[in-house]
Amino acid sequence: MVIPAPQPRSTTHRSPPGEVTCAVCGSESRQVMFRAGAPEQAPDLDLRPGEPLRSTMGHWLQQCPRCGYAAPDISQARPSAARVVGAAPFRSLVSEVAHPPLSRRFLAWAHVLEETGAMHEAAEAMLQAAWTADDLNRQDLARNWRLEAVALWRSGPGLDAEQQVRVVDALRRAEAWDGAADAIAAMLRDQPPEAVRQVLALESRLVESSDARRHTVASALPPPARRPHVAHQKLAGRSSLFGWFRRLFGRR
Ligand SMILES: [Zn+2]
Repeated sequence: MVIPAPQPRSTTHRSPPGEVTCAVCGSESRQVMFRAGAPEQAPDLDLRPGEPLRSTMGHWLQQCPRCGYAAPDISQARPSAARVVGAAPFRSLVSEVAHPPLSRRFLAWAHVLEETGAMHEAAEAMLQAAWTADDLNRQDLARNWRLEAVALWRSGPGLDAEQQVRVVDALRRAEAWDGAADAIAAMLRDQPPEAVRQVLALESRLVESSDARRHTVASALPPPARRPHVAHQKLAGRSSLFGWFRRLFGRR
């Protein structure tokens, strides 16, 4: 899913609760231990989770106050992370005052992932940076970071259907209409399952009407012909929505 799962902490960890040792610089700092609960509302077409999880982005990443390293769990780091965090591009990224502080945290994590070769994970983090810009009505930043997320996805290994749909949605929301239409056409050539075609049909309509707004996965479902209240309640139910969502992307 969208949120990088926090790494389980070692049972031999000696820090008191809340104290975390940065894996890059060794500093100790108090950090929130965030455990993601299941969202109750449908996700956006780019899989940004619904509420109540949606509003918790301020807790998704920890950041070391000394070196600026940001990650879901800063006590964990790839071997080459220290080199990346010490280098000039990272230093300027975390001190770029033109970017909102929460956005910088996600950009920092995206940069570490990209520089350590995790391109798809970097794309996720970059998209999450765009979500923080959405929340601040910074469309200029959100558009740039969505396009960067697409570039990162496309620079990694082949994409699965879920990632391809997110590329389509990122292009649409960045108002890259031709790019979105091309990506939709490319997916349709592969004859995807019916549920994916429904999402692509919605994306196609949105692209044709130059609609760059946020829409949820639920709006890609065919409208209930009868008893809309019952159908709506079923859709709003956590298990049925997740069941549908898993079927959509072939997940278990
Ligand atoms: Zn540190």
